[in-house]
Amino acid sequence: MKFCPNCDIRLKKTSGSTNLECPKCQYSEGDSTKPEEEKISEEPQSDFMVLDENEGKDVLPTIEIECEKCGNNQAVWWMLQTRSADEPTTQFYRCTKCSYTWRNYA
Ligand SMILES: [Zn+2]
Ligand SMILES: [Zn+2]
Repeated sequence: MKFCPNCDIRLKKTSGSTNLECPKCQYSEGDSTKPEEEKISEEPQSDFMVLDENEGKDVLPTIEIECEKCGNNQAVWWMLQTRSADEPTTQFYRCTKCSYTWRNYA
C-alpha cells in the first residue's frame, strides 16, 4: 500500500495500468517497486559427522589426498553410515592442516 507524498492519502490504481495515482492531486507513480526477495539464509543441509577441533586427530587414519581449500596433501578419513540403512557407507576426509571436511562421492 502506498500513500501520496503530497496529501498523505492512499494511492489508487489507475484503470488500465499498474500505475498508482492520487485521487486528489493526480500524483502518480509507477508500481515498479517489487518487494525485496527473501534471502535464503539457511545453510545447506549437511549430513557430515561434525567432529570437535581436536577430536580424533590421533586416532583416525590419515590418507594422502589433496585438500581443495589449502592444498595440503594429508587428511584423516573415516567412514560413516548415512541415515538410511540402504545407502552405502560414505567416506569422509578432513584436512590435517585447515580441518576442511569433505566427503568422497566416488
Ligand atoms: Zn496527492
Ligand atoms: Zn586444508
